[in-house]
Amino acid sequence: MRSSSTYDYIIVGAGSAGCAVAAGLIAREAGSIAIIEAGPSDRHPFVKIPMALIWLMGSRRDWRFKSAPMDGVNGRQINIPRGRMVGGSGSINSMVWFRGRQDDYDNWGVPGWSWSDVEPVFEDVEAKTNPNRLAHPHPLTEALHNVLGRNDIAPPTPEYESAGVCHFNLRNGRRWSAADAFLRPAAGPDLTVITGHEVTRLSISNDRADGVYLGTELLRATKGVILSAGSIGSPDLLMRSGIGPKGSIEKQIVDAPEIGQNLQDHPGCGLHFAGAESGYGLTVKQAANWLTAPLQYLTGRGPLASPTVEGAMFFNARDTDPEPDVQSHFIPFFMNWKGSRYAYGSGYFADVCVCRPKSRGSLTRRNGQLQIDLGLFKDETDLDTLSHGLFRLRDLLKQAHGDKAAPEMHPAGKATTLDEMRAYVRSAAGTAYHPVGTLRMGTDKTAPVTPTLRVRDIDALWAADASIMPAVTSANTNAPSMMIGHRAASFIVG
Ligand SMILES: Cc1cc2nc3c(=O)[nH]c(=O)nc-3n(C[C@H](O)[C@H](O)[C@H](O)COP(=O)(O)OP(=O)(O)OC[C@H]3O[C@@H](n4cnc5c(N)ncnc54)[C@H](O)[C@@H]3O)c2cc1C
Repeated sequence: MRSSSTYDYIIVGAGSAGCAVAAGLIAREAGSIAIIEAGPSDRHPFVKIPMALIWLMGSRRDWRFKSAPMDGVNGRQINIPRGRMVGGSGSINSMVWFRGRQDDYDNWGVPGWSWSDVEPVFEDVEAKTNPNRLAHPHPLTEALHNVLGRNDIAPPTPEYESAGVCHFNLRNGRRWSAADAFLRPAAGPDLTVITGHEVTRLSISNDRADGVYLGTELLRATKGVILSAGSIGSPDLLMRSGIGPKGSIEKQIVDAPEIGQNLQDHPGCGLHFAGAESGYGLTVKQAANWLTAPLQYLTGRGPLASPTVEGAMFFNARDTDPEPDVQSHFIPFFMNWKGSRYAYGSGYFADVCVCRPKSRGSLTRRNGQLQIDLGLFKDETDLDTLSHGLFRLRDLLKQAHGDKAAPEMHPAGKATTLDEMRAYVRSAAGTAYHPVGTLRMGTDKTAPVTPTLRVRDIDALWAADASIMPAVTSANTNAPSMMIGHRAASFIVG
């Protein structure tokens, strides 16, 4: 609990990036630091048990955002889970560990953020998170190593076509989030962690951030405020504080037209396969497996030890180029069948996500309400790439599983032509839960954030989380978010 209402620095959000920012400021002896988290602590058994993330999603530890109805997906609204607790989305995610592609960073074109700049930061982060191969993957996941030409146990990579069991930020079979790797080791008299309090707006005086409001309560920050509330929370907080596009916010202080724009995520859509005793599932034959699951978990085995996503493939959707343009996540569980979390049966699921989507969405505030338009398939190239990718996914899974392959249950025979597949994707697609880009960093005057993470036009205000990525990296975004947080302190204190 807090003993003061004034700190040197206040960090908003104890997520993947925010925890790393806090540790960096403490390591630099930057003064007194408060990190404020809207959600509760992460001390709950479901946070540690890998498979339990399916119960965290939709719980009070999830913000449970919903998108606006989107034309590209037949007017549907899509669920947007975001972690709402210490550790942030890194406390409810599948812990798949990917840095992204080297040229993702070079392509950002931001001075100081090329691959050669960020690689050593990833090395540092990984010394603390120790990503490693899943100890006991399901045999169906293990079989992915048979395809895309390698046959070894190296993890798949977006750098070239590859498939196999992923690496995860797990320690002894338990989640090892940014809270474990950064925040808890930084504990001490200079660090105050405040949970269960949502920052409702920033205090700005003479174009300088000097504190935050928790409802009516003001906490002061003498040296500055760092926004690490994530790709939705950080721009939303700026807009609630009068910093954003003209006309869309009340009591405007700064006209910043790009705040909340450039929203992008990996669009994804998958195939369900079901067959007797194929994949983890609720069946009479697997009853004994579930009864002993808690005991198996203690040895790092069985369904509870699985982070659901176990493997991945990177490949070229049309098979016309050696360069991968899609990622597939492989889940050896029969789950989310027809939208229901539990269903009788056993099987597996794999999706296809577009690595570098071209579509862009936006966050806006209307009548005091946040509107999230993910912009899915606004650029139909994404729809085509994803649809072609699903055809190739079918072939790759057949190759991987051979006579152990289960029949496809959904969409099954209904998507055999490109038009049918496109229609299926529009009816079923979601995202990989990787929103980024809403506070794009850049050197141009309209980029909301500078290459040293300053929020433009406001002094003593920085942003450090997934929102600052100019473009989404080619794979999952947790490691890149920690990398951003880990670098931030050097800019802030420097
Ligand atoms: C279900 C799910 C599965 C995923 N799986 C993977 C995966 O396997 N691998 C991978 O690499 N990536 C995965 N991701 C994505 C990855 O977890 C995120 O990209 C990453 O955690 C983003 O980090 P962040 O610091 O930007 O935001 P977050 O980690 O979301 O942190 C933001 C924090 O700010 C807090 N906050 C927000 N607003 C306020 C406010 N006003 N006041 C106080 N606190 C506030 C939030 O509660 C949260 O704790 C997944 C995400 C989800 C949701």
